Amino acid sequence: MNIEEAIKEASQLLERKKIKSALLDSEILMSKVLKRDRKFLIMNSGHKIVDKDYKNFRKLINSRLKRKPVAYLTGVKSFWKYDFKINEKVLIPRPETELLIEKVLEYYKNKENINFLEIGVGSGCIILSILKEKKSFLGKGLDVSKDSLKVCKVNAKRLGLNSRLKLFKSDIDNFILGKYDLIISNPPYIKNLDLKNLDDDIVNYEPKKALDGGFDGLSEIRKVVKKSSELIKNRGKLILEIAHDQKNEVKKILEKNNFYINKVVKDFAKKDRCIISTKI
Ligand code: GLN
Repeated sequence: MNIEEAIKEASQLLERKKIKSALLDSEILMSKVLKRDRKFLIMNSGHKIVDKDYKNFRKLINSRLKRKPVAYLTGVKSFWKYDFKINEKVLIPRPETELLIEKVLEYYKNKENINFLEIGVGSGCIILSILKEKKSFLGKGLDVSKDSLKVCKVNAKRLGLNSRLKLFKSDIDNFILGKYDLIISNPPYIKNLDLKNLDDDIVNYEPKKALDGGFDGLSEIRKVVKKSSELIKNRGKLILEIAHDQKNEVKKILEKNNFYINKVVKDFAKKDRCIISTKI
C-alpha cells in the first residue's frame, strides 16, 4: 500500500462515520506517523508505506473513528502564530478565541509596560500569544488544574516566555494577589443542560471543567467579574470571551460590579464573542 492509498482508505472510513474533515484528518494523522509535513505526502503519494507505519496510522484512524479530536491525537494545535502542545487535560484552542488577542493588541497598541492576569490559562494559548506580541508585558496566570498548569509551562518554555510569566494553582475565589492593568479570561460558559448536546468530539474528550458554566452558563463569569473588580486597577480593562447569547446578561453583571462596557465584538461567524469593559 502506498501513502495515497492508505490516506484514501482512511478518509473513506471517516466519511462513512460522517466525520466532516475526513481527508484533512487522514492527511494530518499520516503526517504525524511519518513525521513529515503534508506537502511531503502530496509530493510522495506513490511511496510505499512500511508495515509499522501503516499499523500506527490505522490505530490513530481508529481513535478518530471514535471521535477523538485530531488535536488530541497529534498533541498540538495551532493558535494565533504558534503551535501549542496540548493534551486531554486542556481545552483545544479555538480559532474564535484569537479575537481576544486581537482586541488586547488593539486596546494596548501604545502601551508597553503593563501587568496583566489571565483567569484560567488552560494550554496558555491566550496569555502566551499576548506575551509574545508585547515584549514588555508581565503576565500572571491561574488555573485550578495542576495538569493544565503543566501544559502551560511546557508551552511557555517552548516560546521562551518563562521570565515574564508567573503561574498559580488556585481557584478564583482564593486568589488575592496583585493589582492589574488588564484581566482576561475565557471562562467555562456552556449551560449545564447544553453540555450533552455538544459534538461527541467535545463532550466525550474535552475537560468538562473548562466548559461547564453551571445551570445558566454564567456561574463562572459571575465569579470572574466579581473577583476582577477587586483585582483590577481603576480604569483597568476586563476582556472576556462569552457565548453568542450571553451579551445582555454579561453586560448586567459587569455594570453591577462597576464596569463600563466599551464594546461587544462579533467573531468571524458574526456571533457575539468578546466583551471589553473598563473598571470605573
Ligand atoms: N467555545 C467553546 C465551545 O463552544 C466553549 C469555551 C468555553 O466554555 N469557554 O466549545
